[in-house]
Amino acid sequence: MAAQKQRTLGIIGGMSWESTESYYRLINEGVKHQLGGLHSADLLIHSVDFALINTLQEQGRWDELGVIMANSAQRLQAAGVQGIMIASNTMHKLVDDVRSATDLPLTHIADATTDAIKKQNLTKIALLGTQFTMTQDFYKQRLIDAGLQVLIPEDEARAEVHRIIKKELCVGEFKDSSREYYRQVIKDLAAQGAEGVILGCTEIGLLIKQADSPIPVFDTTAIHAAAAVDFLLE
Ligand code: GLU
Repeated sequence: MAAQKQRTLGIIGGMSWESTESYYRLINEGVKHQLGGLHSADLLIHSVDFALINTLQEQGRWDELGVIMANSAQRLQAAGVQGIMIASNTMHKLVDDVRSATDLPLTHIADATTDAIKKQNLTKIALLGTQFTMTQDFYKQRLIDAGLQVLIPEDEARAEVHRIIKKELCVGEFKDSSREYYRQVIKDLAAQGAEGVILGCTEIGLLIKQADSPIPVFDTTAIHAAAAVDFLLE
């Protein structure tokens, strides 16, 4: 085991850095768990300035965001990575820009999550995330195309779920009142028949744990980090 050589993974992070920190810890813990001792993950992280990303999202300037993501991927490739990950659900809206900017393998966060859900034989699933993730085809429809039935909160709750992500979780604020809000949203979706819930934003796992939900939670950060460990050690 001790002599195992790892691949190098590039992570486009900082969206927000609060969740990239989780990726960094989870991937290192995963490698340590597999290889033991002092082993840690062979990673290159390009961490962007999230204020700019967020402004461009709000203004719908996705073309410019695509250029930023493509540049980031190219910088990571030039630095010698063998694979790329985007450490944000929302920014997978630009996955095609990243894929066409490099010829590197990329594990899509929604695909890794779908695999985890299917392993538990669940089909009707709640999705929490930013407004973009909960409503747009790049994510929600991708799950549907993979054979899942997707439930999302109604308008008002969607807006509040999004607000909590951007105004609190992405700046490292974790309030009991917001946890309670998410718990209620999950409970409502479970009452509508959801068999599990996707924490489809990489910061939600910092607020909500399995104990907060009556149905299984699928934490996309943890699932994506596990896929990263598989990639590194493959
Ligand atoms: N990290 C979040 C996500 O997974 C939201 C931040 C962003 O807009 O990229 O969607």
